[in-house]
Amino acid sequence: MSYTAWIISIGNELLIGKTVNTNAAWLARKLTLLGYNVRRIITVPDAEEDVVEVFRDAVRRGVRVAISTGGLGPTFDDRTSEYLAKALGRKYVLNDEALRMVVETFKSRGLELTEPRLKQAKMPEGAKPLPNPVGTAPGIWVEEGNTIIIALPGVPAEMMSIFENYVEPKLREIGPRLHFVERSITVKGVPEADLAPIIERGMKMSGRVYIKSHPKGHEIRSPLVEIHVYASAEDARGAEDEVNRVINYLITAIRERGGEVLSG
Ligand code: ATP
Repeated sequence: MSYTAWIISIGNELLIGKTVNTNAAWLARKLTLLGYNVRRIITVPDAEEDVVEVFRDAVRRGVRVAISTGGLGPTFDDRTSEYLAKALGRKYVLNDEALRMVVETFKSRGLELTEPRLKQAKMPEGAKPLPNPVGTAPGIWVEEGNTIIIALPGVPAEMMSIFENYVEPKLREIGPRLHFVERSITVKGVPEADLAPIIERGMKMSGRVYIKSHPKGHEIRSPLVEIHVYASAEDARGAEDEVNRVINYLITAIRERGGEVLSG
């Protein structure tokens, strides 16, 4: 079983640079820590052809989990659920369980049940609604072939709340049972290009460890580089030992090269 994941960010506001895609970064981190291998973060507009294509592509490629955000609200341009039904070739129907959730939410707030509000209970046939503890639109969980598609609202607080309460526990249960371990060091005085051979040797020390340098300062005048070392493994202790072994090597090699290791 492969545990690949895609994050699909839906919204014109992301593509015109109005909204920073913090949802994708947050989900990528969550999925990575759960041991999933995030292979793509794709941003598409709220346009039928783009949304349908990306969902179909995820299913066709057998991605294990595809999580979308955005377009679940009551307004005319919030049509993710309808496009998802189309992508899967399923009917777009009023879901009884979702209807109960939506009615309950509006009643408890003394709000009227209008047509646009009812729309939030419509989903692809066979989908399961995920309660929204913060807002009104339920999330959607639907499975097709090998792929689980989860559609979440765009509002960050709603997206996070549904994920943490109803998605994360399930993904952990069916997930790869991998532990993600990481450590970082900050290096002063060695340009990134000169760290490259040291990092390459570090990478060769272990098949499970990945090392990435992140330049923070000025490459020539005052080089400052963060080196991030991480590994995923079934045994947390094993992964930790590997990461520490590589970090120790890096610290020694960098000091020999005249660099200063500021933290780690
Ligand atoms: P709701 O169901 O609450 O109406 P929605 O699913 O319709 O939400 P959108 O209308 O797509 O969500 O987005 C609502 C707001 O959430 C946007 O105006 C934006 O501020 C924020 N938002 C949307 N997508 C993202 C994202 N990827 N990262 C951060 N913020 C986002």
